[in-house]
Amino acid sequence: MPFSESDAVSHDYDLITLGAGSGGVAASRRAAAHGARVLIAENNRVGGTCVIRGCVPKKLMMYAAGFSQALEEARGFGWTGVSGRFEMARWADAKAAEIDRLEGIYRSLIDSAGVTLVMGRARLAGPGEVEIDGRRYRAPRVLIATGGMPARDAMPGLDQAMTSNEVLDLRELPASVLVVGGGYIAVEFASILAGLGSRVTLAYRAELPLRGFDIDLRRRLAASLAERGIELAAGVELNALERDADGFSLRRADGSVLRAAAALNATGRRPNTADLGLEALGVALAADGSVVVDADSRSTASGIWAIGDVTNRINLTPVAIAEGRAFADHEFSGQRLRVDHRTVASAVFADPPLASIGLTEEQAGSLGPVAIFESEFRPMKTAFAGGTARTYMKLVVDGLNDRVLGVHMLGTDAAEIVQSLAVALTCGATKRDFDRTIAVHPTAAEEFVLMREPVRRTARATAP
Ligand code: NDP
Repeated sequence: MPFSESDAVSHDYDLITLGAGSGGVAASRRAAAHGARVLIAENNRVGGTCVIRGCVPKKLMMYAAGFSQALEEARGFGWTGVSGRFEMARWADAKAAEIDRLEGIYRSLIDSAGVTLVMGRARLAGPGEVEIDGRRYRAPRVLIATGGMPARDAMPGLDQAMTSNEVLDLRELPASVLVVGGGYIAVEFASILAGLGSRVTLAYRAELPLRGFDIDLRRRLAASLAERGIELAAGVELNALERDADGFSLRRADGSVLRAAAALNATGRRPNTADLGLEALGVALAADGSVVVDADSRSTASGIWAIGDVTNRINLTPVAIAEGRAFADHEFSGQRLRVDHRTVASAVFADPPLASIGLTEEQAGSLGPVAIFESEFRPMKTAFAGGTARTYMKLVVDGLNDRVLGVHMLGTDAAEIVQSLAVALTCGATKRDFDRTIAVHPTAAEEFVLMREPVRRTARATAP
């Protein structure tokens, strides 16, 4: 039902949002733009995981790591006397100043939208009632946007390791690091720490990193990481992490032990739902602790919605923002908008980076006939400087109606290129649309519109 002033009678606010991360802030600002009186509560820093201890500082660390390769390449382009040493404390100071600046921008965005920010630990005290550090506030709608935190229970001893929170606050680079896990965070920080100069061992239990991504990207990524000097300890269950005076030991199921001076736990994240008073109000939680929601982000309790990582749908900042805005538009302006979770692009900022949107070859092949188009080459800049890194691109095309179902890339600028192609996929582009697109030359991205013949076709559906 659309928002109306009568909704607000006897309430202090029209909406109370728990959590001032990207999703909570986007939802609150959008609701305020529709005329709602909004309070947002935050018990840590404004900006949440993405701005304070996730995407943003991670990317700043990735840029720092990229200079080691850039310096190498510069020599191939005729530069002499190019060398340097990474001083992590300098980077840490500059990063802290930048995060302070961004937090200030987030605070002023909240302020200029007319949203009230209350710092403190919030919990639901009753239907439509939120307690923040002992004070009670009332609103007919409450939005849970409390995000997630690193999981520490995948194996004994993990609580002694750094998580993505602590690694971003390092002031000194460890000589060697054991990265435990094979997902987004593990692969990104293994790459970054190796680029900065640490000796990195990446330990994961699957045969390949990045479960869920296209197999051709996973294979090539593993080979590229190994080529960059990262030791891959794959295909064996991980049993326990132990700490002693010299560092860390990771015990594996085959009896082998991996050692390093430091350890990074990157074994997934958990939704922040503990001690929020949710269960008492009838909010159903899934086995992983996430808030169960419907397609409109409505929880099982009346008047309570949840968005972002706390719902453990697709744990990406832009998805949380889209869910938050859809909630606010729906509840406060009567627009019936739903987030389409089916076609969401994502990138892994490793070296080389990779990015994907849509179906993998395996997923598409299980649904019907597909045609696969590929291109693999040494990029001009790398080849000129004598590097061996290659770029790989893949299109997964529906064998019946020519629609492009998946775009996958490993190589320089993958995230930027796939972001642009995500528009084409969202519009339902066909391979013929790609073919009639004239290339921008000389670029790497042009290869996506120059793939003529499929490298293989599957004639009929294969088992999933
Ligand atoms: P992921 O879910 O991506 O990866 C978790 C990893 O931990 C997997 O490799 C998993 O192995 C492994 N693992 C879990 N339990 C165990 C266990 N008992 N023993 C051994 N290994 C185990 O989580 P992340 O923490 O890397 O990232 C969390 C989320 O944050 C991501 O899903 C993503 O949505 C988001 N994120 C996005 C980024 C981006 O957009 N660039 C960057 C960072 C995070 P297995 O696969 O075998 O189960």
